[in-house]
Amino acid sequence: MTDGPSYGFDTLQIHAGARPDPATGARQTPIYQTTAYVFRDADHAAALFNLQEVGFIYSRLTNPTVAVLQERIATLEGGVGAACCSSGHAAQIMALFPLMGPGKNIVVSTRLYGGTVTQFSHTINRFGWEATFVDFDDLDAVKAAINDDTRAVFCESIANPGGYITDLDAISKISDAAGLPLIVDNTSATPFLCRPIEHGATLVVHSTTKYLTGNGTVTGGCIVDSGKFDWSANDKFPSLSQPEPAYHGLKFHETFGPLAFTFHSIAIGLRDLGMTMNPQAAHYTLMGTETLSLRMERHVENAEKLATWLENDPRVDYVTYAGLKSSPYNDRVKKICPKGAGGLFTFAIKGGYDSCVKFVNALEIFSHVANLGDTRSLVIHSASTTHRQLTAEQQEAAGAGPGVVRVSIGIESADDLIADLDQALAKATS
Ligand SMILES: *Cc1c(COP(=O)(O)O)cnc(C)c1O
Repeated sequence: MTDGPSYGFDTLQIHAGARPDPATGARQTPIYQTTAYVFRDADHAAALFNLQEVGFIYSRLTNPTVAVLQERIATLEGGVGAACCSSGHAAQIMALFPLMGPGKNIVVSTRLYGGTVTQFSHTINRFGWEATFVDFDDLDAVKAAINDDTRAVFCESIANPGGYITDLDAISKISDAAGLPLIVDNTSATPFLCRPIEHGATLVVHSTTKYLTGNGTVTGGCIVDSGKFDWSANDKFPSLSQPEPAYHGLKFHETFGPLAFTFHSIAIGLRDLGMTMNPQAAHYTLMGTETLSLRMERHVENAEKLATWLENDPRVDYVTYAGLKSSPYNDRVKKICPKGAGGLFTFAIKGGYDSCVKFVNALEIFSHVANLGDTRSLVIHSASTTHRQLTAEQQEAAGAGPGVVRVSIGIESADDLIADLDQALAKATS
């Protein structure tokens, strides 16, 4: 397929990045289960290593199957390039790596995936990096948290675990004014529901483990670059604007322009951190992307039905789904994710912690797992699992208090899902 910006999402999710295999004509993208690629001659090898010619060297850096997925996700997000990696958490480290250094900090939302809260509040400190957690609905607090050592602003578009929607336009105004890149984790929304770059995001990160793959088979991550950030506007981003000592003094921004971040991610990030996506994982994720829009439509349709049913049930205290009129985030659906508020939300069961534990034990169709974005409906009691490492205040701030369960609504028959919730609520509150 030739690149046409006019193709619709449904066309691009199947075709972007792919073409019949040049060697065999195979229509589906083959799994290049291959490590190394023969150089035509020594000059060709040198050109590849100098990044003067783009091609395949070694699969820690680039692989033909992974490359198709990179182009596909970049296209769906409206970015100029992308780098895939081994997991969503790897994508977060890879996104921060060129921007950060010891003593530098990021300003991040309190409403994040539990593992991300842990990664940002503990693990990155070992690199000398720090995260300042702020309520991203409080724009003055976001502004006030930024200082001279801040190198990025980070949030989720549709945020875990409550399905809260971040006002990306308002946040990107703040990051723009401060001359900082905005990194948006678009895992829960996917580019079908939300395109963060259109709302000012500089980089979009994904856990491709979730909706992009959609079937619970492989872990993976991706960093998409908007190509719009001026890394040379000040001296804050020397890895991109100044001679990079880890690549014989190459100036990435001067040399690659809007593709600077993508080239840096591959030539330095994947080369030296080694968080590579394997070709088998890329294959499963490519197959997943082919049906992304169809699945997301059904996820949204089911989530709307189930959230409405739960909200009207007397055994339930409250439901956080942004697609409900009662949600304080309902206004943002039209602006940020006009095709729907996703498939993820939390609800509080009367009876607190004990009722939640009974409830997850009693469910039959819903699986109790630490995952989201599967075709299957999933449930988790965050306070006793994913958000267990957090303090009580962090749990409350993240919307994962002890009386709350998070659901990831699948694409099964809505009536069956409602019947399952009904019988489990009966057991939980009897
Ligand atoms: C799952 C998830 C991650 C982490 O991704 P992994 O692939 O599990 O490493 C990050 N952010 C969000 C929103 C997620 O749902």
